[in-house]
Amino acid sequence: MAAAVIDGKAFAQGLRGRVADAAARFQAETGRAPGLAVVLVGEDPASSVYVRSKGKACQEAGMKSIEHRLAETTTQADLIALVEALNADPNVDGILVQLPLPKQIDDKAVIAAIDPAKDVDGFHVVNAGRLAVGEDALVPCTPLGCLMLLKDQMGDLSGKDAVVIGRSNIVGKPMAQLLLGESCTVTIAHSRTKDLPAVVRRADIVVAAVGRPEMVKADWIKPGAVVIDVGINRIDAAEGKTRLVGDVAYEEAADIASAITPVPGGVGPMTIAVLLRNTVVAARARLGLGAEAGL
Ligand code: NAD
Repeated sequence: MAAAVIDGKAFAQGLRGRVADAAARFQAETGRAPGLAVVLVGEDPASSVYVRSKGKACQEAGMKSIEHRLAETTTQADLIALVEALNADPNVDGILVQLPLPKQIDDKAVIAAIDPAKDVDGFHVVNAGRLAVGEDALVPCTPLGCLMLLKDQMGDLSGKDAVVIGRSNIVGKPMAQLLLGESCTVTIAHSRTKDLPAVVRRADIVVAAVGRPEMVKADWIKPGAVVIDVGINRIDAAEGKTRLVGDVAYEEAADIASAITPVPGGVGPMTIAVLLRNTVVAARARLGLGAEAGL
């Protein structure tokens, strides 16, 4: 295996440490900790685990975690009323509504109700628009985490050919905008792309955000490319067990790439660390405090 392993777990730990320092300074300046409100509707087990780990990470960073757990049968009007109360609460700096929502609720209407200044997931159209035109924005956590890993690994990304596989609003599209903002030449590939292997072979940077286990093969990778694997796929393993794999055939791709993120331990740990980072950034911006270096 030739590639350097990009250790997202270690990078995320470092970022969480810097966020904790920033949270302590915020507390000293304002007399209160930055506050993140997380809203969970229903009992989805995976969402429950995410919400619990977000709350725990928040507290570990010296921030205030406010959890709202609502019944599966909650109406859209009641959820939006809660969002509006959180918008108005001066102690809440970030609001995250855990997706997916039950079918009687329209995700878009709920996201639109969040104050863009508190939209730490970066899903509000105002933040997506600001990112697109190159203004300061709250940026979705997973792609921002990917960009941090890329810059840490490669330094200046200017002029690099980047291929993002996947065009979702939460990963693919904002990832492409971020790379464009770094002056990469960006291609967004998706399920209708013709000859995907040939498109990927052009790339100095490959970001795979598809959700298909080990789809990207070694012979799609240009020798020396840097590969960021966002995919999290659970597959059957020996003895009736399961294991997690990414969207990239890791073992073989690692022989060709110059650096690659593993799954687990690559992009995954970055998401919560960036969520905490976004909360401190949102808190400071809303209060008109200067930006923190190092976040
Ligand atoms: P999504 O289902 O919304 O989007 C998948 C994208 O892949 C679509 O744009 C589609 O066009 C594209 N696609 C599907 N099949 C394809 C094919 N055969 N060839 C090329 N493109 C194809 O998924 P998402 O929310 O963007 O997530 C993608 C993956 O990233 C999932 O595995 C998800 O679990 C993972 N994910 C991880 C994190 C994290 O690490 N914290 C966060 C978000 C998502």
